[in-house]
Amino acid sequence: MNPSEPLQVDVAIVGTGQAAPSLAVALAADGETVALIEGHLVGGTCVNTGCTPTKTLRKSARVAHMARRAAEFGVRLGSVEIDFAAAMARMQARADSARSGLEEWLAGQARLHLIRGWGRFNGVHEAGGFSLQAGDQQIVARRVYLNTGTRPVVPSIHGLDTVPFLDNVSLLQLRSLPRHLVILGGSYIGLEMGQIFRRLGSQVSIVETGPRITGREDADVSEAIRLMLADEGIAIHCGQPVDSVAPTGSGGEGVRLRVGGRDIEGSHLLVATGRQPNTERLDLEKVGVKVDGRDYVPTDGQLRTNVPGIWALGDINKRGAFTHTSYHDHEIVLANHRREKQGSGAALRSADDRTMAYAMFTDPPLGRVGIGEAEARALVAKGRKVLMATHAMADVSRAKEESETTGLIKLLVDGGDGRFLGAAVFGIQGDEVIQVISNFMATGASYQVLKDALPVHPTVAEFLPTVLGKLKPLEA
Ligand SMILES: Cc1cc2nc3c(=O)[nH]c(=O)nc-3n(C[C@H](O)[C@H](O)[C@H](O)COP(=O)(O)OP(=O)(O)OC[C@H]3O[C@@H](n4cnc5c(N)ncnc54)[C@H](O)[C@@H]3O)c2cc1C
Repeated sequence: MNPSEPLQVDVAIVGTGQAAPSLAVALAADGETVALIEGHLVGGTCVNTGCTPTKTLRKSARVAHMARRAAEFGVRLGSVEIDFAAAMARMQARADSARSGLEEWLAGQARLHLIRGWGRFNGVHEAGGFSLQAGDQQIVARRVYLNTGTRPVVPSIHGLDTVPFLDNVSLLQLRSLPRHLVILGGSYIGLEMGQIFRRLGSQVSIVETGPRITGREDADVSEAIRLMLADEGIAIHCGQPVDSVAPTGSGGEGVRLRVGGRDIEGSHLLVATGRQPNTERLDLEKVGVKVDGRDYVPTDGQLRTNVPGIWALGDINKRGAFTHTSYHDHEIVLANHRREKQGSGAALRSADDRTMAYAMFTDPPLGRVGIGEAEARALVAKGRKVLMATHAMADVSRAKEESETTGLIKLLVDGGDGRFLGAAVFGIQGDEVIQVISNFMATGASYQVLKDALPVHPTVAEFLPTVLGKLKPLEA
């Protein structure tokens, strides 16, 4: 590449989030020239500072937890000591290996140019297509896919700028275990990290300004999660605004939060209060791509922005904030591009057709798909028949055998055609069991089919037919 010459490509992809690498490789394999632009670390949030490192560290935390419980299982150990540096090194090695594997994969592809630099639009090119800039390289592309992801929101709290607070990136760079980690935000990231650090030996306090943690989940699910975390010694404070933040002591370590008239003090503060899209430095206005009031890029079901020839994938389109939704986005645009190119007349795929499924990787995890009980009750109020059943994990044999009986299973089905509307599985293997339901939902079949199917014993999923046998009409 010669930076003084514009690079002419069929496709530019900005950001190497969870949609981009596979899309770039597939399009290049189809014979198109692709410029893949990355301003920071290849692999984006998931690989470098999100799913991969946190789930790796979660395992260290789980081993510590189970080691402390060893005597319950008839295994005698000495005292359990945490080698924080070793746990962090294991985590970093996993993230580094995931990223370098990805880089090697991309480097081996013909017609694929990986360009390092922050990409932005220069404008519409006079010969058609779009002109972009990444560092000193100009790129001219006929089509552009944006996959630039999100970054942490920094809330506006008096005094927050006076303390060296952590986010999901700097937390994973710590060299020593925080004595007392105060976490602002009682949602997925805050809870996962809170439990991990608690199990690694930190004192942990979680401050959630909403009335309860995981405020988007059903109240009973949220309460079960709270009890589980509280049982492990995590202090949870909900329902009060944070009035101010201030440093304590003079050594640079130590923080005090004024919450609803009282003080919560810790050695470190993690801010986990949400994410915001990385769209402002794309200069979208130069090509007329619209953003919403929070800088997300609205798309149609095919993930097209308002400008023909530009698509938005992953977290920035607000159609999911997960690795699997971003990856699914790439499958949708790739399939549609191929179908249109072949003129096969096959129906185009749409993100509108997918049912949202996700997991929160506390231990045990919460698996979720479709609607929750509150939305189901709203449907009932509008005259729809909905059936619901719940079942305590404490009554699931596999959970008893493993002495991991925390949680519950909740299933919601349409009282008319019997299709699943949603499910929550909070408990051992909840992240896996939820796939049984989400995959089943994709078939559009009645729950009766699952109820009559042959399950494998002893598994958590074998209880799904039992739970389905308890379905009762839901009241508004
Ligand atoms: C702590 C944490 C844990 C998580 N755990 C999970 C989990 O367990 N499961 C799950 O499904 N999801 C998880 N997520 C969410 C998941 O990481 C994201 O949903 C996922 O990475 C999808 O993001 P994306 O594809 O939109 O882009 P990202 O992965 O955010 O990547 C975007 C990339 O674009 C680059 N970029 C941005 N702007 C530009 C530009 N102008 N030019 C060039 N490059 C640019 C960035 O540097 C980045 O590399 C977690 C997130 C966090 C923070």
